[in-house]
Amino acid sequence: MDKEKPIRLSYISEELNNMCEICNRICNSIYFQRNFDNWTSGNKDIDQFIQDDQISVHKDNEISHALEWIPYDRFYGIKYIGKIGVCRANWIDGKIYKWDDKYQNWERLNQDMLVTLEVIITPKNVSIEFMNKIKVDHKFYGITQNPETKNYMMVLDNICEKCNHICNSIYFQRNFDNWTSGNKVIDKFIQDTQLSVHTKYGTSNAPEWISYDKFNNIKFIAEHKLGKIYKANWIDGFISKWNDNNQNWDRYNQNMVVTIINLNNSKEITTTEFINEV
Ligand SMILES: [Zn+2]
Ligand SMILES: [Zn+2]
Repeated sequence: MDKEKPIRLSYISEELNNMCEICNRICNSIYFQRNFDNWTSGNKDIDQFIQDDQISVHKDNEISHALEWIPYDRFYGIKYIGKIGVCRANWIDGKIYKWDDKYQNWERLNQDMLVTLEVIITPKNVSIEFMNKIKVDHKFYGITQNPETKNYMMVLDNICEKCNHICNSIYFQRNFDNWTSGNKVIDKFIQDTQLSVHTKYGTSNAPEWISYDKFNNIKFIAEHKLGKIYKANWIDGFISKWNDNNQNWDRYNQNMVVTIINLNNSKEITTTEFINEV
């Protein structure tokens, strides 16, 4: 995709009430330009890079490609993960959705969304080529700076290589740090199955780790060769689909009746499948 180079519009320093010469109206590019005086990354190359990108955003369907300068204090819950220079954080404001004329500001989606912050090793090298490389397997929201280390960091989201967007597999993956069955084999089994779920619907086929306190009215039913069988109500119900606004799964059938098998041989990894079966 060879986008034409953003045109440095002559009226940037003039009255920005002027219309865009390309769109013949006050477009997103103008809204971004009006705000140029209100932020700086402290680095000329990065400022230029973000401004060029923003100037090139005219139509509403181009907004999802807009990069922005995001002050570090707009993140919380910053946690370092395995890789050096990479951490996960919650982004308070969430991504830009569209211009809100009434509030004269950007309307945003996904408040508190989880993002990845990754150190930019050489800020001088940020360029369209650099950005295009990043965009191959990430959603790129903008740039921030850790005030302590002074490192500039990209604000990113992983996208699925297979689907080319953020699919269910990615939502499951993000949550891997937040649960464990306490058994490596079971963890691996659940994780692998979850990673294979790329569809938008039909996620209920993916087993999940369900802690025992998520069940009510647990009643013994019978002995089975595998172990004792119980019936119980599952408080949350099964996953139906990802809810972008809540940044969590929508679920169906709260308090649904499920069968739990207390396996005699807990090395059997089928537990989770049974738990998920109605
Ligand atoms: Zn325009
Ligand atoms: Zn996928």
